[in-house]
Amino acid sequence: MAHDAPQAAGPTKLVIRNIGLLLSGAMEKPILDADTVVAENGKIAAIGRAGDIDVSGATTIVDANGTTVVPGLIDSHVHPVAGDWTPRQNQIGWIDSFLHGGVTTMISAGEVHMPGRPRDVVGLKAMAIFAQRSFWNLRPGGVKVHAGAPVIEAEMVEEDFKELAAAGVKLLGEVGLGGVKDGPTARRMVGWARKYGIQSTIHTGGPSIPGSGLIDKDVVLEADTDVVGHINGGHTALPDDQIRCICEGCKRGLELVHNGNERSALYTLRTAREMGDLARIILGTDAPAGSGVQPLGILRMVSLLSSLGDVPAEIAFCFATGNTARMRSLDCGLIEVGRSADFVIMDKAQHSAGTNILHSVQLGDLPGIGMTIIDGIVRTQRSRNTPPATRVPEIVGH
Ligand SMILES: [Zn+2]
Repeated sequence: MAHDAPQAAGPTKLVIRNIGLLLSGAMEKPILDADTVVAENGKIAAIGRAGDIDVSGATTIVDANGTTVVPGLIDSHVHPVAGDWTPRQNQIGWIDSFLHGGVTTMISAGEVHMPGRPRDVVGLKAMAIFAQRSFWNLRPGGVKVHAGAPVIEAEMVEEDFKELAAAGVKLLGEVGLGGVKDGPTARRMVGWARKYGIQSTIHTGGPSIPGSGLIDKDVVLEADTDVVGHINGGHTALPDDQIRCICEGCKRGLELVHNGNERSALYTLRTAREMGDLARIILGTDAPAGSGVQPLGILRMVSLLSSLGDVPAEIAFCFATGNTARMRSLDCGLIEVGRSADFVIMDKAQHSAGTNILHSVQLGDLPGIGMTIIDGIVRTQRSRNTPPATRVPEIVGH
């Protein structure tokens, strides 16, 4: 288990050449006309055609061998606890396994599985600050885990949110997993969070596990969180008419999760498309959970939505990259100069019926991952978890 991710010792220059297909992560232009990407000191420095950009002085050269480069995938909804361990299914190394599924950034929706999780205000604030610090200092396998997402309780006052923000907390855990389950209280606290720059999300739908509760459309719309967390339920979804009301009643992010209701995910997708609002769709796994831990969960969502939801694969990848990055103000998720050099290099899986990677995803297959890169540093080569890629990239020079 890679607990201590490799860090660059000095200046770095990564060149990825011979790219067969470059997906941008941006819905307005999902495919870029380029075969070479250069990253300096962890940030994308140039994108273009070989011969047109300066590749001299590279510290690492990757030959993509005609494969596909995609921004590192973002899981918008995870429940980490401590390091690379989860008590929910008692697994060790789950984050490193997600890296092998192409996930380079994760967003905590609350560290709710912490054994003996404190629910008093001082205790929950302390735990949020601890989680934020701990995952900032330790990146399992190199994965960027944005954690420290307190679950709000009714006793909290505005000063608590101010204090959390000043301490570096930037997220709320799912509203509804704590004592606050009514619209007016949730709205007041979400407003305080927003005032101090803390993003919010909400648990949508029926209870996930014994002890949690129902959050229906009225509470979701009144709370007005930045993201409508698992609008397809986690697992139990709201009725379709309520999902439609939420889509039409706000402009917030519509998060679809793996550990939810797949039919409701497709219903939400179709509704958002009718509204011309696909930019609101973002993806998560909601893992670890009762349903388990899915290293390929984000890839499976991309494939599900593309194949059964009739979305071009290059657009479905935007749901897991650029859409989430923009909505959550992350510096990754898009192939753009200045962004974090976080990439997944993939190809059509061996023996897929698809003619190329995009066609294979549209047929419902998963791609094979050949390499992951975070902050311009190669983290993994051929994935131990995906089906084997037909072609794989190679490190050809240092
Ligand atoms: Zn939830």
